[in-house]
Amino acid sequence: MPGKQKTRKTLKVSEGIPQPESINRDAVQKLRQQKKKLLATDQYIRGILDHDRTILSQAITLIESSLPEHQEIASNIIEACIPYSGNSLRLGITGVPGVGKSTFIETLGLKITGAGQKLAVLAIDPSSERSGGSILGDKTRMEKLARDKNSFIRPSPSGGSLGGVAWKTRETIILCEAAGFEVILVETVGVGQSETTVHSMVDFFLLLMLAGAGDELQGIKRGIMEMADLVAITKADGSNIEKAERARTEFMNALHVFPPSPSGWIPTVYTCSAIEGTGFDDIWRSIADYIHQTRENGYFQLRRNEQATYWMYEFINESLKNNFYTRPDIRIQLKELEKKVLNKGISSYRAAKMIIDGYLEKGL
Ligand code: GDP
Repeated sequence: MPGKQKTRKTLKVSEGIPQPESINRDAVQKLRQQKKKLLATDQYIRGILDHDRTILSQAITLIESSLPEHQEIASNIIEACIPYSGNSLRLGITGVPGVGKSTFIETLGLKITGAGQKLAVLAIDPSSERSGGSILGDKTRMEKLARDKNSFIRPSPSGGSLGGVAWKTRETIILCEAAGFEVILVETVGVGQSETTVHSMVDFFLLLMLAGAGDELQGIKRGIMEMADLVAITKADGSNIEKAERARTEFMNALHVFPPSPSGWIPTVYTCSAIEGTGFDDIWRSIADYIHQTRENGYFQLRRNEQATYWMYEFINESLKNNFYTRPDIRIQLKELEKKVLNKGISSYRAAKMIIDGYLEKGL
């Protein structure tokens, strides 16, 4: 019936009207954040240097905030903390979901805090916004460690690109060091680019692997294996011990085909069981050996220096990109140019050049 069809069409059109809900939610959240009383910058700095973890948490929240006034305070705090940073051991841990990262971190973490050292556990999980909650953010995953007064667990900052999330984590490392944490553990899910990012902010990189599944099955690329300073085969307990031992030999062989690292360090493979607590003495000793060796041969400082330069460029790249893509005039022009490129009225190269020339002329 023609009449009925018409009604349906009209209904379809109204379905497409965008709902204002998300705009409101953002606004409400912003207002809430603004309403929260801020301390004076000096109070944050003093609190951090006094090892006050409540103030440390609040300062990290400022780092993670997207409000310009929060960012301004955060950068002043970071600046003041830098002279007190750099004294920790920074460890990166990666592995596919289910490999046993949180259980491993809890066991290793309790060993570290049990030896009297203060440990901060941070996470990088760029997917946390999309999945509506970080898989690495759940403190209940490391219940005992979360209750330990010598440990501080901070979930992954949500939102934004990997670069943005990683940048915040790197700044958080500085604050944690200034707050007296001696070991900083940065965890990431081993499924993509984030391992490379974590590798570029830690002194030692630990890869967790499961026995019995080929490395292809675990989605671990060759490049990630190559970055590892130590591979730990997890869940080496019960009927899995033999399989884990076999995997250890296989991984040892695989690691030997890689070119030697500039650190002079030969990566090792261990089996461990986080549930039974076995293998952790070897792993911890190996980390200590690495630190000793690379401090002696100068590689430790060299790697830190390289990382500092790398992050300077990362920051420049991120800032330029942000500045460019968030400018209202650029956003309008981009839409118009996109159309022109698609209608073949102009080449991609010319379109890009036009908009960049215009951008540079107006200045940042
Ligand atoms: P994540 O996703 O990498 O953080 O992995 P989890 O730490 O959450 O562990 C995934 C599953 O493996 C859980 O069911 C753990 O109980 C189990 N698991 C972790 N470590 C061990 C271990 O050492 N031995 C055994 N048998 N199971 C483990």
